[in-house]
Amino acid sequence: MAEHESLEFGKADFVLLDNVSMEEFMANLKLRFEKGRIYTYIGEVVVSVNPYRAMNIYSRDTVEQYKGRELYERPPHLFAIADAAYKAMKRRNKDTCIVISGESGAGKTEASKYIMQYIAAITNPNQRAEVERVKNMLLKSNCVLEAFGNAKTNRNDNSSRFGKYMDINFDFKGDPIGGHINNYLLEKKQSRVIFQQEGERSFHSFYQLLKGGPDSLLRSLHIQKDPTAYNYIKVGGQIKSGINDSADFKAVADAMKVIGFTVDEIQTVYKILATILHLGNLTFGVDGDVTLIENTKLVSVIRELLSTKEENVEKALLYRTVATGRDVIEKQHTTQEASYGRDALAKAMYERLFCWIVGRINDIIEVKNYDARVHGKNTVIGVLDIYGFEIFQNNSFEQFCINYCNEKLQQLFIQLVLKQEQEEYQREGIPWKHIDYFNNQIIVDLVEQQHKGIFSVLDEACMNVGKVTDEVFLQGLNVKLVKHAHFTSRKLSPTDKSLEFDRDFRIRHYAGDVAYSVVGFIDKNKDTLFQDFKRLLYNSPHSSNPVLKGMWPEGKLRITEVTKRPLTAATIFKNSMISLVENLASKEPYYVRCIKPNDVKSPLLFEPERCRHQVEYLGLLENVRVRRAGFAYRQTYPRFLQRYKMISEFTWPNHDLPSDKDAVKKLLQGCKFDHDVAYGKTKVFIRTPRTLFSLEEQRAEM
Ligand code: ATP
Ligand code: MG
Repeated sequence: MAEHESLEFGKADFVLLDNVSMEEFMANLKLRFEKGRIYTYIGEVVVSVNPYRAMNIYSRDTVEQYKGRELYERPPHLFAIADAAYKAMKRRNKDTCIVISGESGAGKTEASKYIMQYIAAITNPNQRAEVERVKNMLLKSNCVLEAFGNAKTNRNDNSSRFGKYMDINFDFKGDPIGGHINNYLLEKKQSRVIFQQEGERSFHSFYQLLKGGPDSLLRSLHIQKDPTAYNYIKVGGQIKSGINDSADFKAVADAMKVIGFTVDEIQTVYKILATILHLGNLTFGVDGDVTLIENTKLVSVIRELLSTKEENVEKALLYRTVATGRDVIEKQHTTQEASYGRDALAKAMYERLFCWIVGRINDIIEVKNYDARVHGKNTVIGVLDIYGFEIFQNNSFEQFCINYCNEKLQQLFIQLVLKQEQEEYQREGIPWKHIDYFNNQIIVDLVEQQHKGIFSVLDEACMNVGKVTDEVFLQGLNVKLVKHAHFTSRKLSPTDKSLEFDRDFRIRHYAGDVAYSVVGFIDKNKDTLFQDFKRLLYNSPHSSNPVLKGMWPEGKLRITEVTKRPLTAATIFKNSMISLVENLASKEPYYVRCIKPNDVKSPLLFEPERCRHQVEYLGLLENVRVRRAGFAYRQTYPRFLQRYKMISEFTWPNHDLPSDKDAVKKLLQGCKFDHDVAYGKTKVFIRTPRTLFSLEEQRAEM
């Protein structure tokens, strides 16, 4: 039980609800939000509601209050979870991870930053220079990643367009010595680079360069300050946002320098951003049956920025080199194909740039010179900031991938939480009672199974030669999944008018039903970037910029060698999810579940419907039930006494029984709660929250 909070603030832990119903859950969540209590536990899970205002709860003083404390001794807080993960790592030598989930704008990235800030604050008491350096790098890397990976969307002014998993490595003293970042791209093929929805912007990096880049830099890049001069960011360029792009440019440039990017590398980054902007302004025309570039001056600008030859740029944009057997022929694009290729190039360049930046940061922050034989095992805390379940009016390939990701995480949650409980009961010598819960493995299989799963059917459709359409893919699904309990389409349930023929399929996810439109699945899944571009950017006679070449390693293949198909987007995503989950499964997990209270960024408004949906998608009620099916509360004997000994004459102020365990037994027998508890080797377990609640009340009355 948390530090005794007055009931005026609601219940600090949802397991203490009298009844586990949606109504009670929501009433408690709302009450706490309105009272400014944005964090509430479900056991060891933190539920967080975005306050949309600055809260005075992250200061150095607050850090001190949570440092080294047990979870239930202080009001619920992210710091308590961070401390629990840190203690498990330090005291028990366990690798731990903190999984943060929730929908866009719910506060995941902010939460991950507070967690990092807490860990930075409580480590390195001896101010070792090397540790300070690492800490600084880890914090600075955030700033760079956000510049290139975040954008203003209609849901969040600083929306992460990628999922991020960051490992922090600690030495035997518990001080950070390095880290590693994995990124999971959200927008397939970075479509934001070439187009934004009304009210949204492209990635921050473009506006930062235009608004904050010194004149001399912009001149050398042949770039002007006005974002509306560039087709690719025109829409977003008109937006007046509260973001200070110019100041951010300086902060990011600084951070890159501190992290250790070389001058050449930083220059290349700017050159790529500029190239993309120029590409967007290229237009194609025809002269007879020849496709040509209308604004040839831009071609020479791009040539200069890419350190390559003019005719190579032109050729890559206008022709496709195809290998037929041993012959290599050049096929001219139509204007339409050329525009498609241009956009594909721009998106791919940005994607490569982002992945390269992550890779460079990893080179620099990775653990060096650590000898486990001398210093003992190096332990890890992983922090995962990843998109939550999404259900929109129109759901496409992106939502499908995101929701699959959430199924995987839910499966992990089920396994880990139950496993953890089970292990604790075993350790403490308490008999384990089976808990019934919905196991979503069947949905995970529906998506990822070899040959039969949706991803496999999609890949198969993409492999067909000739014109493959999204409908063909849907037909494939209808054949393979005709009997699957969690899959349907209009063909399979003709009476379901909410699904369109030849367009939609529906999955019954653990969090609810979602209809997906197959439109665009095939295109988004294929790697359609012409090899010619890859060669343009890699091949030594073509580009003499080593940084750029490093981003396009496969370009070195000769045309006749390119026989292997590149992996599809689905396969890449699936593989990255499988290895992410394997990695998390090897660690002790802590969870932060973020909720967005309203769609207008208001600190006052709690929209019950919106919140209830999120509580459903996050599976929170189920979480409370699982938690309560076992024992709602457990505490070591000495700590329990410390808190409740005033209740019993046998334990106040001190007991003379042989052990603390005996004293706790005596105390609980005296209150007639004996039937509701189990005595483990080191801990007392209380089954129902009501018991704990009464103890709290008695304690308060003393
Ligand atoms: P996305 O999935 O789009 O990246 P997110 O869950 O990472 O969304 P954040 O960027 O963390 O969302 O939060 C959105 C905004 O909400 C922040 O920019 C900030 O204004 C506000 N916010 C979130 N958490 C807090 C907090 N603890 N205190 C104050 N404001 C917050
Ligand atoms: Mg975010």
